[in-house]
Amino acid sequence: MRRTMWRFRERIILFTVLVLWTFVVDTSWADPQKILSAIDVNANPCKIVSQKIFDFKELGQQEFKSSALLKEELQKLGFKVEGDLKVPADLVKDGIARTAFKAELVGKGPGPTITIMLEYDALKNGHSCGHNLIATSGLLAAAGLASIMKDTPGRILVIGTPDEERGSLGGGKIALLEGGHFDGSDIVFITHPGDRWSVDQRLLAMKRGTFVFRGKSSHAAFAPHKGISALDAVILMFNATDMLREHVRQDVRIHGIIKKGGDLVNVVPELAETEFAVRALDTMTMEETYRKVVNCAKAGELATGAKLEFKEPRTSLKSPIVVPGFAKMVLDQIKAMGIPESDIKDFHEFASSDLGNVGHAFPTINLWFKIAPEGTALHSDAFREAAGSDEGWKATVMAAKIIALTAYDLLKNPEKVKAVQGKFKELKAQESK
Ligand SMILES: [Zn+2]
Repeated sequence: MRRTMWRFRERIILFTVLVLWTFVVDTSWADPQKILSAIDVNANPCKIVSQKIFDFKELGQQEFKSSALLKEELQKLGFKVEGDLKVPADLVKDGIARTAFKAELVGKGPGPTITIMLEYDALKNGHSCGHNLIATSGLLAAAGLASIMKDTPGRILVIGTPDEERGSLGGGKIALLEGGHFDGSDIVFITHPGDRWSVDQRLLAMKRGTFVFRGKSSHAAFAPHKGISALDAVILMFNATDMLREHVRQDVRIHGIIKKGGDLVNVVPELAETEFAVRALDTMTMEETYRKVVNCAKAGELATGAKLEFKEPRTSLKSPIVVPGFAKMVLDQIKAMGIPESDIKDFHEFASSDLGNVGHAFPTINLWFKIAPEGTALHSDAFREAAGSDEGWKATVMAAKIIALTAYDLLKNPEKVKAVQGKFKELKAQESK
């Protein structure tokens, strides 16, 4: 009897230990509710940060106050913050990105590195692209994730990426990429306010080139036969690219301006200068078209005799490699948060951004969130008003939650990170074929 009793007790003890062990294992993963609560708690202070950045309205490479404020907030959240990042000196003066920063929070142990990018540069008419909301949605997502990292394996990296609006000059994300500041990232997130909710990732790859033609000046009436018109070479280049335009895919864009075309009408122009931008939805097509535009310039040189000078541009914007399964993860999260289907839409028109270079190097998602009625154009005064509005702020908080919950899903399931990276590599290999 005693023996049976003892066995019974043993079983009860064993059962209790097992239940407790399961409980401990289960709670070693924090509740996503904790992330949402941390975002709610931080929403009001972050709104003030957003409003301050909105009022600072600092242009690219001058975002000193905005970046200082963001660094301070990240420090308060427990991140280790580093400013004055080293970058190539031919992209940023002195080789130091003074308005960029990097903030790191290490979790419970080894695991995926989730990177969140913040933008905070304005335009001449203020925050008409809403980058104050990109910065603060990312900051809020970081606040949400910071609340669980003590119990979560992995690492959160927040990178302050300045100067997006002039991104084709390479001073923002391209300099940071080349400086190695994204190294170790497994997955990258960013958000952007817009007139819809979307995870549509398409961006046009772009290369900008300046072409200088040197001819020979002469009196345009008295001795035209002794002159060589550099302007004629430019006009021939324009005509040739117009012909090329008929034979490119519909997403390809070729556009040029004449920067110099002569000084006096009675002098054969000795010097002419033109700038062209070439864009396409994939990097390879853009590069191929750019080479053809260079040939159009050479045609102008050959036909007129005006000498062509041009340099291969130091940087170009790339098109991101899109992993559909990753985009779907974020889309599912948008829907789970109750965003109406009618507000979720793909884009049919595209622009270029240095974000594409990050998306070409790492699996990246840009979450578009709706702050303005459909049709409101980015960079317009109406969009700027939306970026400073209460409605805009509500959507920003929602965007932060979507990013943080998706990031948490990835941290908790490293095999999902591996799958996204595998697909990314496969698609990138296909692109270069
Ligand atoms: Zn923008």
